[in-house]
Amino acid sequence: MRIVNTHYYRTRDPFGKDGDFITAPEVSQMFGEIIGLWAVNSWQSMGSPKSFQLIELGPGRGTLMKDLLRATKHIPKFHDAIDIQLIEVSPVLKKIQKQNIIHNRITWHKSFETIIDKPFILIANEFFDALPIYQFIKEDNIWKKKSIGLNENEELVFTLDQESLMINLIPETKAIFYESCPEAVDIVAYIAKKISEYGGAALIIDYGYLNGSNGDTLQAVKNHKYHNILKNSGEADLTAHVDFKTLIETSKKFKIDIVGPMEQSEFLKKWGIEIRKKQLLKNATIKQKLDLLSGINRLISPNEMGSLFKVLEIKNVN
Ligand code: SAH
Repeated sequence: MRIVNTHYYRTRDPFGKDGDFITAPEVSQMFGEIIGLWAVNSWQSMGSPKSFQLIELGPGRGTLMKDLLRATKHIPKFHDAIDIQLIEVSPVLKKIQKQNIIHNRITWHKSFETIIDKPFILIANEFFDALPIYQFIKEDNIWKKKSIGLNENEELVFTLDQESLMINLIPETKAIFYESCPEAVDIVAYIAKKISEYGGAALIIDYGYLNGSNGDTLQAVKNHKYHNILKNSGEADLTAHVDFKTLIETSKKFKIDIVGPMEQSEFLKKWGIEIRKKQLLKNATIKQKLDLLSGINRLISPNEMGSLFKVLEIKNVN
């Protein structure tokens, strides 16, 4: 999953009509603007530090950050304090981010190592779902790790592997299937630890489940349609749902506060998306009005992204 996804993202801009999928910041400018409001509020709660890191994991086209910066530019002390840190594996997307994100202090990193050394605000929209997962299946009363191998025609196939040390880590509550993303756990532990040390806030937005893993959530998407996971490897986007329960349990080992997870619609409404919509509609052309209305519907409707997507806030602003 790591090899396939790294190849996938390093070689294309996957977003939009001509691409494979669309994300919330690409649906409407209001998404990044509302997160901008959340970020300013978090910064003020942190005591308006003169300098802080504004970190984004997997910024895609940089649209969220662009909209966030534009919506907050009337708060000059906030802008002066921002030191932008972007974690991005893709040179193609980095180039697009360079065009879209205008700020005098931006640093790019290829991986999320020890970059945090002061108070910070971190945003990750649809980043955790791209990280590699492990899956285990109980067969004939024996746990086996699902792996990928080749058949006699040299095609990729799923195989089951009994020899894995990780089998010892499967929670006893699991009966027949277990899915886990150790890298997400490591990253969230690092974020929560740094929040407890320096103060800050992190916003994790993704599709996922709240009550622990129950089934196989690995999926491939290509041209806005589900795709065979083992076909056209590296040409389709692979994702798995995010296990928010485990991420919360991990964070709680540190001195931090948690808000949520709440559904994306609740988060966006709480931070005023309806008010923002009304402001934007006032000066909009008919085409812009239609775009705004369909955009907000896509972001908050329970049949679209409103319920499936969850927002988890981890913070320690004292
Ligand atoms: N946040 C953006 C993009 C989401 S797609 C949006 O909402 O539109 C996932 C993003 O994470 C892409 O920018 C991709 O290149 C990046 N990415 C995926 N795996 C990564 C990894 N292991 N390390 C760093 N970045 C990664």
